[in-house]
Amino acid sequence: MNQLAAVASLLRESRCAIAFTGAGISTESGIPDFRSPGGLWARNPPVPYDEFVRSREARVRFWRQRREVYRDLLAARPNSGHIALARLEQLGRLKAVVTQNIDGLHQEAGSRSVIEIHGTARIIACIRCRKEWDPEVVTAWVDAGNDAPNCDECGAPLKSRTISFGQAMPVEEMRAAGELSRHADLYLAIGSSLVVEPAASLPRLAKDYGAKLVIVNNEPTPLDWKADVVIRAPIGPTLAGIVSLVSDPASSREAPTSHA
Ligand code: NAD
Repeated sequence: MNQLAAVASLLRESRCAIAFTGAGISTESGIPDFRSPGGLWARNPPVPYDEFVRSREARVRFWRQRREVYRDLLAARPNSGHIALARLEQLGRLKAVVTQNIDGLHQEAGSRSVIEIHGTARIIACIRCRKEWDPEVVTAWVDAGNDAPNCDECGAPLKSRTISFGQAMPVEEMRAAGELSRHADLYLAIGSSLVVEPAASLPRLAKDYGAKLVIVNNEPTPLDWKADVVIRAPIGPTLAGIVSLVSDPASSREAPTSHA
């Protein structure tokens, strides 16, 4: 059996399949990941949270970086990878998506059960009073020269609702993601280098609690040795292929050959 057919068969047999996604699922939508050559970090090292809080200069860097990616993010549309996961949920084959992504593309593709463990770039909020702001309004301020915007209620810095390095993980999302990972019998880790902690501990947790682990990523990850299936291939066509096999098992006879 080739690898796509093997994953399709695992999905058909599973009672609690979870997808865990990273930046790699969105590169085919035109949003660069962090670590690939030419990725965001090659140009812009991330601003750690303590620096953001402490230094105006760091906040200016944060907002400059956000300005660089925000328009691309808004223009991006879900690709066949996002759409395949939404379809698996509709077919009753996928319980939830736990995502490290901040782009909102899973929801836009139609996935309903999505846990964003690194927050979302689609909301801006005050870091002290939590007042939420329309991202379009704040982006317009930044475009007009307000290079580190503050809250008009309490004066504290505004920040996208994303989790920066050094910032506490969202409690409820991590609790839910941990519970799903412990209950999963199939875990699909898709488009993640699996090196950002504590997120990367979730697929490990799932495997330790007995889930079968499938990794879809075009480069090796530190968890490959633990995985039951590793597919090194572009995510969109891979997931689309898996979904057609899940919806029509008869087509597995004509499935594309191995992606090993
Ligand atoms: P990462 O950049 O560390 O890893 C992405 C992985 O996906 C890489 O190993 C890369 O080789 C692989 N990849 C990229 N495109 C692929 C494709 N088309 N097919 C197969 N594999 C592909 O991403 P991460 O593990 O998610 O960790 C980085 C952090 O940055 C996360 O917190 C993430 O939320 C954040 N981030 C999010 C976005 C987004 O929301 N779209 C974009 C950049 C970074």
